[in-house]
Amino acid sequence: MTVYGLLVDYEYCTGCQSCELFCKEEHDLPVGKWGIRVLQDGPWEIDSKQYNWNKIPVPTDLCDLCETRTKVGKVPICVHHCLADVLVYGTVEELARRFEEKPKQALFVPQYKPVEARGAFVSANRAAGKVTSFKAVEVEANTDFDIAGHRRPDDELEDGMAASVILTEDLKTRKDD
Ligand code: SF4
Ligand code: SF4
Repeated sequence: MTVYGLLVDYEYCTGCQSCELFCKEEHDLPVGKWGIRVLQDGPWEIDSKQYNWNKIPVPTDLCDLCETRTKVGKVPICVHHCLADVLVYGTVEELARRFEEKPKQALFVPQYKPVEARGAFVSANRAAGKVTSFKAVEVEANTDFDIAGHRRPDDELEDGMAASVILTEDLKTRKDD
């Protein structure tokens, strides 16, 4: 069986919490329930020259790895909206290979099977058929900017290639099923 997970490059997570908010919106999670939390360790002093201060996004037991998106070939919504580009979705086998590329990464395999076993979480809003508005932001790669190069292997940096963001308008009102 192929197992999927989320790889987090927490060295460059900004702690913006976009992943938390878009996950809540996508899954219509109410106050107090989360699919992912951005945890923090620090700041505390290691020595006179260094501090420990990490922001670490951790999927919760409500994370279903965005099954409705991934089964049609899309990436999870948290991956899609992470402006620091520090979240990667893929097979555990593929993600594990990335551990060799740099330190300060974490691999999570959310509790997907238990969710299937107990049934997916259905919010009161969704069950009542309430309409929510959702502003989608499409993210694509282009070669106009030289950012995030620190996370790319040298052989992928030809022509100044780097991650960047294109915002496209998609202001459709969405009716959740
Ligand atoms: S959206 Fe990305 S950068 Fe922002 S907190 Fe989540 S993982 Fe970190
Ligand atoms: S993969 Fe989907 S369900 Fe899991 S944390 Fe990301 S947005 Fe939430």
